[in-house]
Amino acid sequence: MATKRDYYEVLGLPRNASEDDVRRAFRRLAMESHPDRNGDPGAAEQFKEINEAYRVLSDAEKRQTYDRYGHASVDGSFNGGFGAQTGFSGFGDFGFEDIFDTFFGRRTATGRRPRAERGADLRADLFIEFEEAVFGTKKDVEMPRHEPCGTCSGSGLQPGTQLEVCRRCGGNGEIRRTHQSLLGQFVNVSICDQCRGEGRVNRTPCGTCRGGGRVQVTKRLEVAVPAGIEDGTQIRLTGEGEPPETTRGGRAPGDLYLVVHVPSHTILPWEGNDLLVRRQGHDLVLDIPLNVAQASLGDEIQVPTLEGAVELKIPSGTQYGKSFRIKGKGVPHLGEKRRGDLQVRVHIMVPTELNREQRELFQKLDASFRKTANSDAKSLFEKVKEAFGV
Ligand SMILES: [Zn+2]
Ligand SMILES: [Zn+2]
Repeated sequence: MATKRDYYEVLGLPRNASEDDVRRAFRRLAMESHPDRNGDPGAAEQFKEINEAYRVLSDAEKRQTYDRYGHASVDGSFNGGFGAQTGFSGFGDFGFEDIFDTFFGRRTATGRRPRAERGADLRADLFIEFEEAVFGTKKDVEMPRHEPCGTCSGSGLQPGTQLEVCRRCGGNGEIRRTHQSLLGQFVNVSICDQCRGEGRVNRTPCGTCRGGGRVQVTKRLEVAVPAGIEDGTQIRLTGEGEPPETTRGGRAPGDLYLVVHVPSHTILPWEGNDLLVRRQGHDLVLDIPLNVAQASLGDEIQVPTLEGAVELKIPSGTQYGKSFRIKGKGVPHLGEKRRGDLQVRVHIMVPTELNREQRELFQKLDASFRKTANSDAKSLFEKVKEAFGV
């Protein structure tokens, strides 16, 4: 086995790179080395390598295993897993139907063995933004794939010509050999190797596609991404995979599976700072800082959402970690009008730097607190008791 490059080296990342770094590096490198954009014959190999590195490093569990045990630990899980990004035909090439045909020699109604029931399925990755996943979007996707040849309409035959009867099998598509044994007469049937079981052969192949019935194109598709889609969801585009080997017999094309990749969070600007919004099922979770005075006295604050700011009332005596729900500002349920909520989690920030005025005020506050009955200590006592069941 050839020596493999370190996955971090492949993506040009340090070992402590964040999930985001991994995603960004993959995106950039995948663009550069995509066999479609890059004519370099080594590009396809490089692209595969990048894809493989990404698959491991973007999966927390696999990455951990890789960090600990290296290539040997993760190789096994990838057998046939690299449908790769666009262009390489995916699992459809060795589909169940082919295997079935091989073992059972299944036949169509006409008695001829089909080459392949349908064209190969394709798989491609689609990267969208956090907000696009929440609200839905339309994306233009460019796919290298085959299409039925325009000259022969996919038949593979020169226009005006027809398939001819196979001379070897006389049009049966199979060859029978009879032999005698002690146990009786046996008939051995095998598929004709000349016509591959079709019974007909193409002696006048189309000049454009050389008889293959298909040509390489770059297909542009507009894909509707539904609101509320989750990271890793596959969108199946029926009939947008590879066409069958030839369209003789009217066989269907394969499907295209788009794997949608969504970042785990987005950033919203807020009072000169950035706030982080994450997704939790159909809810969005926003962490927001409050100062001790706001939490003690209560306040009305502006909270950023993906659709502009909304007002939120903070009651007096709000405790650390308290969560407020803003109804209907979360993620839509797929295919429904219903939406989750926005959970606003407050963090009460103890100041790390005080100016003179603030220091004096806190000193006064401290002195005042010491005079009043220590109800906070009492409520802490109750809380701890409850937590430990004593
Ligand atoms: Zn053709
Ligand atoms: Zn034949």
